[in-house]
Amino acid sequence: MGTGIRARCNDCWYSRSFMLGVGMHHSTLENCIGCVNKNSQRKINDLLTSNELVEYKFEYVLAHCQSCFTLMDRPLLKLTLANNQTYQSDLVCKSCRRKQLKVIEPSELENIPCPSCRKTGAMKGENDLLWD
Ligand SMILES: [Zn+2]
Ligand SMILES: [Zn+2]
Repeated sequence: MGTGIRARCNDCWYSRSFMLGVGMHHSTLENCIGCVNKNSQRKINDLLTSNELVEYKFEYVLAHCQSCFTLMDRPLLKLTLANNQTYQSDLVCKSCRRKQLKVIEPSELENIPCPSCRKTGAMKGENDLLWD
């Protein structure tokens, strides 16, 4: 079960919903691995063949691209392996493909520039429908 967040700009038409948190269909590790990018999938499969998995955490996070300003929800998988090794899947921008995403909390929306008009301080986040 996750949380829906709507990001809105007070200064232009920009309004988009994002689904954050964990969805029910991501309950198995295989499903979670299937959601992250190919490069991370390879890395994770490599790690799991030679290391024991202690725990994993999967969620959708709100991410802002510092290169093209796109705001998006992205899957993030964190693994903890034996001997305290940790691994976090890559966060890659959907539109420019750069790895310059910054994970933000909905409450931090007002600190980032609007993806459309690029004005800082005009964005705000509000709760949207729940999903599962
Ligand atoms: Zn980008
Ligand atoms: Zn705007």
